[in-house]
Amino acid sequence: MSHFKIRCSNCGKELGEVYCAFCEHCKDALLVTEYKERNFRTDNGKGIWRFNWLPVHTPFFEQSGTVVYRSAGLADRMGLDDLFIAFNGFWPEKGAQLQTCTFKEFEAAVVLQNAKENGVSGLIVASAGNTARAFAHLSVVSGFPIVIVVPTMCLMEMWYLESSLAIPTLAVGDGDYADSIDVAKRIASVVGFPFEGGVKNIAKRDGLGAVLLESVAAMGKLPDHYFQAVGSGTGAVGVWETAERFVKDGRYGARPPALHLVQNLPFAPMLRAWEKGSRALFPDDLRPELIGQITTRVLSTRYPAYSVKGGVYDALKATGGRMYGVENREVYRAMELFAETEGIDIVPASGVAVAGLQTAVAQGIIKKKETVLLNITGGGEKRLGKEKRTYDVEPRMVSKKITEKEIEELLCETLKKNY
Ligand SMILES: [Zn+2]
Repeated sequence: MSHFKIRCSNCGKELGEVYCAFCEHCKDALLVTEYKERNFRTDNGKGIWRFNWLPVHTPFFEQSGTVVYRSAGLADRMGLDDLFIAFNGFWPEKGAQLQTCTFKEFEAAVVLQNAKENGVSGLIVASAGNTARAFAHLSVVSGFPIVIVVPTMCLMEMWYLESSLAIPTLAVGDGDYADSIDVAKRIASVVGFPFEGGVKNIAKRDGLGAVLLESVAAMGKLPDHYFQAVGSGTGAVGVWETAERFVKDGRYGARPPALHLVQNLPFAPMLRAWEKGSRALFPDDLRPELIGQITTRVLSTRYPAYSVKGGVYDALKATGGRMYGVENREVYRAMELFAETEGIDIVPASGVAVAGLQTAVAQGIIKKKETVLLNITGGGEKRLGKEKRTYDVEPRMVSKKITEKEIEELLCETLKKNY
């Protein structure tokens, strides 16, 4: 008996236990997990697996979680009484053990475990930056085969842990993210692994929601406000869905936190659409030259989970949320402020979230006594670099015109060798 069901958020049909990257049920609508237990529990095991609201049954590897603590330094500087930090990264003195330094580890862990339990033998991951690093690491930890496809333009911000360097990674040199997805789909048909599914994969969103599971377990309540930097927005959607489960539980608050989502200007397609009250994104806000101007390439996806039913637009509406845009110089200043007041380095994407919080406080949107949760999506890279060498990724360069025969030659040997 499974402890969860999967339901289509559009037509309400129950799908039973399925691997969700396959089942785009109704077009432009997300499937949602329904956990049979209405009450939140934390006695299921170790790390993130101790939570009952994850779509996995018998995890066979360990995965540590977010470290949540009440801020003193940053809270004082910002004039907030009840600021909590959800720190995702490497900070051993605080108990933070994510060597990839990103909350994408939860996504990768839950997706791979869920796929394995659904009889899937491997996955194609079309992603870059943090997500690629997290999936590569979890593939090593779990022994679950994956192939990663990235657009070459994202390579300069990528690094893998040394132990992940053998994970098959292809870079599409003559194309953008859309071409990478196209190549990934062809690889999927050749090697027989499905696509990980992006925002449509319930395991991905519920895995990212583990940040809120960990936070409520530590805080004993839902926060009033939640701050996060967004690229695709998948993590924010996962947090909203998780928050709605806490509201149904009833013991942690009557309302989901207001989502405060931050983008790095000038590439801020969700902010621009939200400002105009639009569910649709505007092509003019997705111009590639805007991406070249932001400091956080990891937040540069041109296909965010904004318009889809149950996505970012709906999450903002449902929670009374807001969107913010911050300039590069504000991001760098926020990174310095965080290091100075909290004592650990953070990545630019986290600087975006901190700068967004500063904006909200300056505008009087957040009241001094309200409870705020700040998701530091990545930190401790410098800290890790001091103790351990990290490596740049050296992918196999391929063309977007790669043929099936070439894919076969390239990958079948590599996959045999690695798994
Ligand atoms: Zn449906």
